[in-house]
Amino acid sequence: MPASVVAGNWKMNTTVSEAAALAAGIRDGAAAAGNVELVLCPPFVSLAAVRDAVKGSAVKVGAQNMHFQESGAFTGEVSPGMLKGLCDYVIIGHSERRQMFGETDESVNNKVKAAQAAGLKPILCVGESLEQREQGKASDVISGQIRAGLQGVSDASDLIVAYEPIWAIGTGQAATPEIAAEIMGAAIFETLRGIFSGAADNVPLLYGGSMNASNSGEFAAQDCIHGGLIGGAALQAEQFLAVAAAVAAAKA
Ligand code: PEP
Repeated sequence: MPASVVAGNWKMNTTVSEAAALAAGIRDGAAAAGNVELVLCPPFVSLAAVRDAVKGSAVKVGAQNMHFQESGAFTGEVSPGMLKGLCDYVIIGHSERRQMFGETDESVNNKVKAAQAAGLKPILCVGESLEQREQGKASDVISGQIRAGLQGVSDASDLIVAYEPIWAIGTGQAATPEIAAEIMGAAIFETLRGIFSGAADNVPLLYGGSMNASNSGEFAAQDCIHGGLIGGAALQAEQFLAVAAAVAAAKA
């Protein structure tokens, strides 16, 4: 079975000092949360402070994005090499980046490959819109995003895939565990199997979209869900740790 993972996507929230304090609070409660890998993904400018705050603990750090080129005339961008030493993980292809910042399947694919080449672990995000779901296209959209995002990728050992239906992100309207499991256990898992064969069995699959302390246990109770990518509920240490504890308990 893949490792259990609970990752917090802090998005464009927290100053550097707020980020350090939040990370310290999570660090202090992490051991009690149980057997689950915790990953904190603050804004770029707080990566060093969060790394320092969790030093010596099992808590890991991730970035929310990166460019796929190593250097050059890309104003405002951050390269894989720049992230090395600051974090172990990187979120790639979040729907907010796809929708608001022109992220395409092609750039997502380039970023996954660049992350792996740099020794960073990609958290590849996929998810359908409400319109696509209502048209009955959710499974096809998700399979397509996975195939395109992982084109030419042969190593599944450091990969995480997050299923985040766009209609559930930040809305307070989480998917049901059954809806999530239908996509994750079929469209995502079968597509990964087609690409990686048996190695797909060890890829952690995270649900994301209004996941919180109250519903995370039900999601993690599904065999094909190994944790969560958490937005709003990741911004308070107590809530984030409660999500982690519920996932750990469901997977124990
Ligand atoms: C996210 O943006 O990755 C997310 C899951 O957000 P929220 O938990 O706030 O829905």
